[in-house]
Formats: sequence, structure tokens, C-alpha cells
Amino acid sequence: MRFNIVGAGPAGLYFAYLVKGLDRSHEVVVYEQNPPSVTWGFGVVFSDRALEFLRDDDPETCEFLTAHLERWNDITVVHDHTAIPIDGNGFGAIGRLRLLELLAERARERGVKIVYGTRVEDVEALAAADVLVGADGVNSRVRAQRQRGFGPQVEHRRNRFIWYGTTAPFDTLTLTFRLTDHGVYCAHHYRYRSDMSTFLVEVTENTWRRAGFADMDEIATIARCERVFEADLAGHAIVGNRSFWRRFPVLTNRCWSSGNVVLLGDALRTVHFSIGSGTRLAMEDAIALCKAFADHGGDVPAAFESFEARRRPTTDKLGRAARASLAWYEEMDERVALPPMAFAKSYMTRTGRVDETQLERVAPRFMAACRAADVSPGS
Ligand SMILES: Cc1cc2nc3c(=O)[nH]c(=O)nc-3n(C[C@H](O)[C@H](O)[C@H](O)COP(=O)(O)OP(=O)(O)OC[C@H]3O[C@@H](n4cnc5c(N)ncnc54)[C@H](O)[C@@H]3O)c2cc1C
Repeated sequence: MRFNIVGAGPAGLYFAYLVKGLDRSHEVVVYEQNPPSVTWGFGVVFSDRALEFLRDDDPETCEFLTAHLERWNDITVVHDHTAIPIDGNGFGAIGRLRLLELLAERARERGVKIVYGTRVEDVEALAAADVLVGADGVNSRVRAQRQRGFGPQVEHRRNRFIWYGTTAPFDTLTLTFRLTDHGVYCAHHYRYRSDMSTFLVEVTENTWRRAGFADMDEIATIARCERVFEADLAGHAIVGNRSFWRRFPVLTNRCWSSGNVVLLGDALRTVHFSIGSGTRLAMEDAIALCKAFADHGGDVPAAFESFEARRRPTTDKLGRAARASLAWYEEMDERVALPPMAFAKSYMTRTGRVDETQLERVAPRFMAACRAADVSPGS
């Protein structure tokens, strides 16, 4: 069979690797608009739980990737100037570029052809293959050209965020909330290389307007963020990489396939970065689609149907958690009125997926600190 794949992100590259592994006679070609070694963003984080999916389905890739991760065990929530450690949360992080290089290397070793520097404009020409996979991210051209077939819905949420990096090394995955005259600034920051960290800044729309970001250029924006987070950056600079203020697009599709065309990863659905699962979902999609072809061979409609049946429930569940999480951040200006420990607990329970009993089990030191601070159960 011939598989054309648009997009050499985690979804496209990993699916190419897996499907070529199913049958070496498959012809698998990935088209990527960027040259090799160019991408957006900085590091991405996987929770230990998120890595479990990979351990079960593809232990070899899991071992391989794990060796390249920066690891740590705790989360820190900084409530203005009070740092609260939260135990029991294993994480690993990797630079997005490094992840893509590793996935591309493995795909090429299996015989996948990756055509870089080629932006696909005419999706229909590529659909002449047996299967066309749209793994071309949130602004998918494949989805746009088959809009009626997929029935996408996009909702741009209220908060503004900007994805930066910094050379400051952080010891844990940290959420820092700084109170300013304009409102709360939140930084999501963590080390993904010994000498590099992700530093993502998020503010509410009101804070963004009051701060005057609408009229600031890139240099002024970085300077403002560096001032707000001066104590956290400890003299290190913030660096950009095609960084600009965005509002998070929550995307869903009514149908996941249209004829012989199927969507994967962010082209299919987005989940807010605050639950750190987009890359994991993209890779899980790749696994599920490959399994569907393993089960149904050349019967493309049956494979697509089985892919969707397998993946929809998980996607919907994580989608609900991600919505609850992003809504929590949209109310951070009000939530910071809570005392620091209550604020941290509210953060830990924001998705509705972790209850008091689970927190007692995974974060006993944190829960003991909550009791010592008189944070009542259920708050
Ligand atoms: C700010 C932010 C922080 C995040 N942090 C995390 C995190 O910590 N952990 C995590 O798991 N996830 C995180 N994510 C989500 C994660 O980055 C995405 O979910 C993931 O990259 C989706 O992979 P993908 O392969 O579907 O799409 P993408 O990674 O977007 O890849 C799509 C590829 O398609 C290419 N392309 C697009 N159009 C065309 C075209 N017409 N022709 C050819 N090529 C094309 C693009 O250049 C790109 O290389 C974050 C996302 C954001 C925005």
C-alpha cells in the first residue's frame, strides 16, 4: 500500500515508522514544509503515566526515548512568593526538535521517505495514494481542504499565552504565579535539556490588555516578562522561537476520516498544554491507526472505523480534563486570593480527575502540609 503523510511532527513521523514496520513493502512518504532541524516551540513534557502507553505498546521506542529525557519527581507551585513542593509526580521532558530528530531517524532507518521543505498545497493530488494521513497540526491544510467531510469546530479560548525558552535550569516542573498591578502572570517552566528550559507565559485577556502587550514588539514583550519573573530567571534571559501571543484553539472534528483521508494528532483535536498530553495523544493516535491497519489490512474504511472506535473514548475523556484545566487558568486572577496551600490544592484537583484519596496516595507529604495549614478536605 502507499501511504502519503502530510506533516513530520510527532504524529506523522511516528505513524510512518509504525506502518512501515507492519509491512516493509508499504511505500510511506512524509511531506514536511520545514527544512530538517527547524520547528516551533521548545521542550515538551510527558508525565510518567503518559509514558506508560508507550511502554505497553512499543517498549523499544519507550526505552529509546526515555534515555533522552530530563527527569524529575516533583511539581512546584509558586504562589507569588511562596513555593509549595508537591511530591509524587514523575515527569520527563525533551526538546521538541530533539524528539522530532529521533523519530525521523528511526523512520528513515525503516525505509520511510521524508521530503522536507515541501509545503503541501494540493491535498487532492496526494490523495491518489491508498491512504492520505493529515498529520499537519492544528492549522491542517488537509482538514481545511476536506472541511465538509471532517466537520471541524474550533473555539479560541480567552487566555493569552506565549511559548518561550530560557537557559535557566529548573529543578522541577514549576507553575509560577506572580501577582502584578496588571493581574496574574503564570509561567509554566521546566528543564528539557541540561542547559535549556521551556518558559511558557500565560495571562488572562484583561491582564494582557492592561499590560499593553497589544502594542509591544517582541523585544519589549520579552523584557516585560523577564521583569515579572526576574526572581525565577535568576539573571538568565528569555529566548523566543517564532514566539507570539496566542489564544488556545480547542479543536474537534465531527468525522475523523473522509474517503481515504484520515486525521491524526493536533489536526484531529487539540488538548490544552497545561495537561501536557498533546504529543502523547498524537503518538497514541499513530499506534491506534497502525493497529487498525494490522487488523484490517487493505480495507481502508474498516481500518478508519476501528481507529475511531478505539480512540474516541480516550480522546473525549482527556478533552474534558483539558477543558477543566484551561478553565481553571482562565480564573487564576480570582483563584490567587486563596491562601498558598489551598491554591496549590485547587491546582492539583483542577481537572476533576484526581480526588482527595488519590492525592493522599500519590502526594502524602503535600497532603500532610495541607492538613498542617488547615486546608479543609474537599476545598
Ligand atoms: C504552547 C504549547 C505547549 C505544549 N506543551 C506540550 C507538552 O508539554 N507536552 C505535550 O505532550 N504536548 C505539548 N503540546 C502539544 C504538542 O506540541 C502537540 O500536541 C503535538 O505537537 C501534536 O503533534 P502533531 O504531529 O499532531 O502536530 P505538529 O507537531 O504541529 O506537527 C505538524 C507538522 O506538520 C507540518 N505541516 C503543517 N502544514 C503543512 C503542509 N501544508 N505541508 C507540509 N507540512 C505541513 C508542520 O510544519 C509540522 O512539522 C504543546 C503545545 C503548545 C501549543
